[in-house]
Amino acid sequence: MPAFSLDQEQITWCAELRALAAERLRPLAEKGGPGRVNRPLVAALGDLGLLARAVGAGAFDLCLLRESLARECTEAETALALQGLGTHPVAAFGTPAQRARWLPEATAGRAVAAFALSEPGAGSDAAALALDAVPDGRGGWRLHGEKQWISNAPEADFATVFARTTRGAGARGVTAFLVPAGRPGLGGEPLDMLAPHALGTLTFDGVPVGPEDLLGPPDGGFRVAMTTLNLFRPSVGAFAVGMAQAALDAALAHTAARPAFGGVLADLQAVSHRIAEMATRTEAARLLVYAAAAAYDAGDPEVPRRSAMAKLFATETAQYVVDSAVQLHGARALQRGHLLEHLYREVRAPRIYEGASEVQRAIVAKELYGRARTAESASSSAPHEEARAR
Ligand SMILES: Cc1cc2nc3c(=O)[nH]c(=O)nc-3n(C[C@H](O)[C@H](O)[C@H](O)COP(=O)(O)OP(=O)(O)OC[C@H]3O[C@@H](n4cnc5c(N)ncnc54)[C@H](O)[C@@H]3O)c2cc1C
Repeated sequence: MPAFSLDQEQITWCAELRALAAERLRPLAEKGGPGRVNRPLVAALGDLGLLARAVGAGAFDLCLLRESLARECTEAETALALQGLGTHPVAAFGTPAQRARWLPEATAGRAVAAFALSEPGAGSDAAALALDAVPDGRGGWRLHGEKQWISNAPEADFATVFARTTRGAGARGVTAFLVPAGRPGLGGEPLDMLAPHALGTLTFDGVPVGPEDLLGPPDGGFRVAMTTLNLFRPSVGAFAVGMAQAALDAALAHTAARPAFGGVLADLQAVSHRIAEMATRTEAARLLVYAAAAAYDAGDPEVPRRSAMAKLFATETAQYVVDSAVQLHGARALQRGHLLEHLYREVRAPRIYEGASEVQRAIVAKELYGRARTAESASSSAPHEEARAR
């Protein structure tokens, strides 16, 4: 069996993406204000055709996009990913009118998207969400409540909003709505985060929505959310791999050049072995991410487990690799503006969003025990079948 590697076309595309990120996107990212949507950056991602690719591509292409951009410019990576996350429900579940109205604008980078699932009382336990959709008696609803930790909020031009249409029904009572900015009663505030991530709250004070705003059927919104997250989970891992690779590259260059004890840092076995460990874990994470993305594109039934493993391992690995790179750089890595100071702040959130590491472990374990139970009941029923046949 040949060693796994990307094909030549993919390798060339990734190199082009890294060059675009370094030369075209990073200068725009550097001009953006922390915690605010960087509209020139989103527009450039649109002009370069990358948003259209992110929204229309499969999981594997999305992972290559995110990994490549993350190696050179995390802000560009994040702007692309958030636009994809907010737009995917419209692409996958929107009506022809919704798709015609929003997809060209979103993929051109003229309209900024958001994906609004989390609430103050419902994060990991998303099925407990409480944003209330109260029937208005004319076939529509009024939304009351709050969303929190929503990327691109409150500046986004439209948001996929998950609301409770049936009380007491858990995941089965959630409906997805496409809510454009400017609806009466819609507000929100930006939140100041550790990394310069555009993020905030959305408040709903009787926001009107109608049947024409539905994404999927009433009470079918949890499927919209989970389908979107299953696609994006491996690509969060790809973002993490891109950051890990950037940190590893920096640590390799630094330790090979930094004079110490009559040689360079790399001459110390403790240092070179740490570099080897960082590289090995990064490569293992990359392969898990690629395997999960390929499984998604092939329609493999094991996608939830594979996606969870990829996201879990890649984000935890990136934390280890970035922290190790900081250690190997010493004090300079902690100076404001250093690449590793930036990555150290950026690497933390992916272990929490789109399912915290503990939630990913729960998904993996559930599938493993489910499979074991199925195998056990199949083997215990086999002798009865045999006896009946005799
Ligand atoms: C930078 C950033 C961007 C985000 N963007 C968005 C967005 O665009 N849209 C959106 O809807 N949300 C977004 N979020 C919110 C994110 O999805 C939630 O933070 C996440 O789901 C966790 O919810 P929580 O913060 O309320 O933590 P909680 O649910 O309160 O969990 C806290 C901790 O409890 C533990 N825990 C939780 N559940 C379990 C479990 N089952 N087993 C074991 N331990 C557990 C974990 O350690 C977890 O980290 C974003 C968050 C961040 C940080």
